[in-house]
Amino acid sequence: MPEGKGLLIIYTGPGKGKTTCALGTAFRAVGQGLRVLMVQFIKGSWHYGELDAAKLLGNDKIEIRPMGRGFVKIGGAETDPEDVRLCEQAWQFSLEQISSGRYDLVILDEINYVISYGMLDPEKVTAALAARPEQVHVICTGRNAHPRLVELADLVTEMREVKHPYTKGILAQRGIDY
Ligand code: ATP
Ligand code: MG
Repeated sequence: MPEGKGLLIIYTGPGKGKTTCALGTAFRAVGQGLRVLMVQFIKGSWHYGELDAAKLLGNDKIEIRPMGRGFVKIGGAETDPEDVRLCEQAWQFSLEQISSGRYDLVILDEINYVISYGMLDPEKVTAALAARPEQVHVICTGRNAHPRLVELADLVTEMREVKHPYTKGILAQRGIDY
C-alpha cells in the first residue's frame, strides 16, 4: 500500500464528537507538519474555541473558514435560497482548496448535514471528491452521511449517543461544546 494515500474520512451519527474528532485529527496532522484547512458549512451561533486555538497555532498551520450563517432555516419549502447560495459558495471554495496543493488535510465540517437537507447535490460532491488529487486527506462531518459518500469513503465512524448532558437539561459548556 502506498504511504501517501489521501483518505476520505467520514464522522457521522447522532452522538456528540464529530467536529471535535475532526479537530483532533487536525491537531495531530499539524504536529506532523501537514497543512490543514477546515471549511465550516454551518457556522454556529457561538464563538467556537477552535477559531482562537487555530490562530494560536498560526494561520499557515491550520486555517478555519466559517462560510455559513449563524442560523440556518432548512427543510422543505422553508429552505432559504440565501443559505443554498452560501452553501454552494462554500462547496466551490472547498473544491478549489482541495485541488490547490496548498493543503494536506481539508475538513468539510457539517457537509453531511447540508447534503441531507438537499442544499448540496450528493452525486456532485461524491464525483468531485473521487477525482481529487490523490494525496489529499478529506474529512466530512455531520449527521446522516449520504450513502454514496459512505460508499466512496475509506474510513467511516458513526458516533452513537449513549448519554448526553442535554437530556438532563444541562446546556452547552464553554470549552467542551464551543
Ligand atoms: P462536537 O462539535 O461537540 O464534536 P458534533 O459535531 O458531533 O459535536 P453536531 O451535530 O455538529 O455535533 O452538533 C453541534 C452541537 O450540538 C454541539 O454543541 C454539541 O455539543 C451538540 N450535540 C451534539 N450531539 C448532541 C446530542 N446527541 N444531543 C444534544 N446535543 C448534541
Ligand atoms: Mg459538528
